[in-house]
Order: sequence, then structure tokens, then C-alpha cells
Amino acid sequence: MQGGFIINFCRLKSNFFMLVWASLLAFSVQAENKSLIVASIKPLAMLQADLGLGWQEPIVPDGITPHDFSLRASHIKRINAAQLVIWLGPEIEPYLAKIMARKAAYQQIILPPYTHAEDAQNQHHKESKGDDEHQHYGKHQHKHHHGADLHPWTSPVYMQRAMAQVAEAINTLLPQYAHTVKANEQRQQQQLAAQMQQWQDYFASHKVSYLVYHDALQPYETAMGLGTSNMGSFADAAGSQFGLKNLRQLQLAIVQQKVACVLVDNEANLALIKKIAGQQLPQVTLDLLAWQLRPGTNNLHRYFAQLGQAVQQCQ
Ligand SMILES: [Zn+2]
Repeated sequence: MQGGFIINFCRLKSNFFMLVWASLLAFSVQAENKSLIVASIKPLAMLQADLGLGWQEPIVPDGITPHDFSLRASHIKRINAAQLVIWLGPEIEPYLAKIMARKAAYQQIILPPYTHAEDAQNQHHKESKGDDEHQHYGKHQHKHHHGADLHPWTSPVYMQRAMAQVAEAINTLLPQYAHTVKANEQRQQQQLAAQMQQWQDYFASHKVSYLVYHDALQPYETAMGLGTSNMGSFADAAGSQFGLKNLRQLQLAIVQQKVACVLVDNEANLALIKKIAGQQLPQVTLDLLAWQLRPGTNNLHRYFAQLGQAVQQCQ
């Protein structure tokens, strides 16, 4: 009897430990899964979450623009620990070039550079015929970083393509998530396509005109057929302030009442805007990097709704 009791007790004890062990294991797998995949910037982290791959803080945190970012020890640790890093490649994200060169090819998804020509082909609405006569103040001094746009994520076309690319890569790299990702992708793609159509229709029938602090909105404008709405910028795509001559042209556009508002993006030099545009011109926040967006469901949908609503205010 006594022996039986001991055996039973031992069995009970071992069952208990098995249970604890199993739950610890489950927890660690879950915790590990969550740190498996890391995206470089918040819009890509949102894409990752929308595909059902879990929310993870991006490498570039809220409050720092990719133009000003540099890697710290904590970032390097995270990148080294990650099983998969989603990023935009060395041209757009030079701060990751060195560390990512050391990471295996199967541990990274590099989203291809964005070209305006490609996006324009996908665009449903043609730009108005008056486009030739239209003046973009300050726009001729674009510094295109080797031809690739520095803000590809502002294009819903680009992000839909990126979503498909990530889903496809997951098939090969992390097949255990392929099923989840496929289901989420279909739903998200439909939602984003419908949303883009709505905004294209809206902007086709509502005239907006604005200045945007730094020249970061072109991919969005191309997708939305907003080419003639952008009346110029205070700084180029890399965030470098334009010279006085260009800034005077902005003032001229304001005086001639060609501009409805200034889109104040994450880079904006508020003192410069005040100096050039004065107090009268309305300022609208443009959250290009989604700093204000709390991660949840349908992140990209909410991001593009927010961009659309900002531009919408400049009528
Ligand atoms: Zn920028």
C-alpha cells in the first residue's frame, strides 16, 4: 500500500511537473515566435502584424525618423536574435546595411525599391491635362537617392505589393505560418484595394492643394492621382532644407492663394514654416511614420485612412 502511494505520489508529482514544463514550453515558443520577426520601420511592423505575424516594435522607434536614425547596441542585439528581418534594403535604409550584410539571406526579406513609373501604371485616374503647365515649387531640386524613393511605404500600391511579397517569402522561410498569413493577406488586400479606390474617387472629384514640409509624399500622390495638388516643399526627400530662392517661391504660391494648407510631417521645422507661411495658413499634421498610430488590427488601413484625412483637409 505504502509503496503504491509513493508511486502514485511520484506519478502525480511528475504529472504536475510535466504540466508545468509543457506550459513553460508553450510560453517560450510563443514568446520566441513573437521575437522571431522584426521589421525596420513602423509601417512595415504594421504590415507584419496585419499578416498575423504578431506585433513587434520596429527597429526605428517612434520619435526618430529614418533620416536621423543610427544603430545602437540594443538594436544590434535584436537584429542578431531575430529569425527574420523585414526591411527596405541598403539603399533606403543604409543604417542597416552593415549588420544585414552579415545576416543570412533566408533571415531577411528585402522589399524592392519603389519606382514612380511602376506605380503610375497601376493608377486608375489619369492626372489632369494641365499638368504640363503646373508648377511644383521647389520640386525640381529633388535629391533622389540613386533614383529610389525614400518613402515608398506612403504608397498603398507599394504596400499591397509588399504584403504579397512578404506573404510569399513566409511560404518558404517560415512555412509554419504560411496558412495564417495567406488568410490574413487576402482579407487585407481586399480591404486596402477598396480603400484606395475610395480615396482615388474622392480626390478625383475634390480639389486639394498643399505644401508638405519635406518632399516625402510622392509615392502616395502617384497612387492617388494627386500630382497637381502638391505645391511644393520646404525640404527635399532626404530632409535637407531648400534654399531661399525655393522658399520664396513657396511664399509666392501662398500669396497667390494657390495653397490651402501646410502638411506638417514628422520632419517639420516649425519655425521655418512659421517664417515662410506665417500664421494664416492652416497647418495639418501628417503622420508619415505612424507615430500616433497604436498597433492593433487593420493597421495599414488605419494608417492610410489617416493620410487621406490629412490631405482631405487641404481643400
Ligand atoms: Zn523623410
